[in-house]
Amino acid sequence: MTALKIVDLRSDTVTQPTAAMRVAMAAAPLGDDVFGTDPSVNALQQKIADMLGFEAALFVPTGTQSNLCAILSHCGRGDEYIVGQQAHAYRWEGGGAAVFGSVQPQPLDHANDGTLPIAAIEAAIKPDDAHFARTKLLALENTLGGKLLPFAYVQAATDLAKAKGLQRHLDGARLFNAAVAQSATTGNDARTEASRIAGCFDSASVCFSKGLGAPIGSALCGSREFIARAHRIRKMAGGGMRQSGLLAAAATHALDHHIDRLADDHAMAKRLAAGLADIDGLNVESPQTNIVFIDLTGAAKARSAELLASLNAQGILATGLYRLRFVTHLDVDAAGVDRAVSAVRGFFNA
Ligand SMILES: *Cc1c(COP(=O)(O)O)cnc(C)c1O
Repeated sequence: MTALKIVDLRSDTVTQPTAAMRVAMAAAPLGDDVFGTDPSVNALQQKIADMLGFEAALFVPTGTQSNLCAILSHCGRGDEYIVGQQAHAYRWEGGGAAVFGSVQPQPLDHANDGTLPIAAIEAAIKPDDAHFARTKLLALENTLGGKLLPFAYVQAATDLAKAKGLQRHLDGARLFNAAVAQSATTGNDARTEASRIAGCFDSASVCFSKGLGAPIGSALCGSREFIARAHRIRKMAGGGMRQSGLLAAAATHALDHHIDRLADDHAMAKRLAAGLADIDGLNVESPQTNIVFIDLTGAAKARSAELLASLNAQGILATGLYRLRFVTHLDVDAAGVDRAVSAVRGFFNA
């Protein structure tokens, strides 16, 4: 019996480094990044800063640490940041900004398209009054749950923040997915779109370890002065790494070879959604990038655990409860998507 290949749709973080990426890692010149002398880290930091139009960048082990360094560099004790209820930098990071920085989040509800309504942002900005925390920062996430924020919205929200004297941070863990999706509508290439989006912000965080396919690592970008502050916080957070050029080389390889191919992941997500669209009991949200959300409805609602277990037994991994989540990436091909589709169909037809 041949072992069935696992189709792992839990997240785009599960990608394994490609053979070519491993070669790049093995060949990377290394130093000690705490001394600032790792050439591969320095090259990556310069590359991503240039690519996104910032003066400087900082290589960090995780996106969570990147957002933490950003928020604590923009805000001090008793300041607050405006952020989405579903944003990673609010909901999914253990309350780090509050715990480590005494920075208060001001979460806002998202509209259906993932945006934070401009009027709600404006209303949340506190006047200078001893009753209130000082509103210092607007943090947006793009993509948000796989949704591309409309570029005109990103411009309007960040313009408002700037006019009100706020700093602006982009959690662009999946910025390049956003850029690839946006480039399909503007005709510009993805790098141009990435820098147009990032250009609306004072700082931006990107993950190399998601769709870009590197094993570990994120970068925080901003002005030289901002990155100097973030560098100190990274050290406090335990993120000063040594021969981290090994990881930076993987990230550089990803930037060189894995940006445009994100379009393949988006196509695979559409293929998956199309394959599942007409099944009774499923409400499939049409994907804009590489994440497909599926709501179980009616009688099917109670069967999510059963469905996931059935998929699991057939070597197909996904996550969720009422909302199932399927994420496409470098290691998922059309055959894998088709297997997932027929396994879900089989479950409901049985
Ligand atoms: C994954 C993710 C992060 C955090 O990245 P980790 O490397 O898992 O800490 C931050 N923001 C968003 C939007 C993410 O999707």
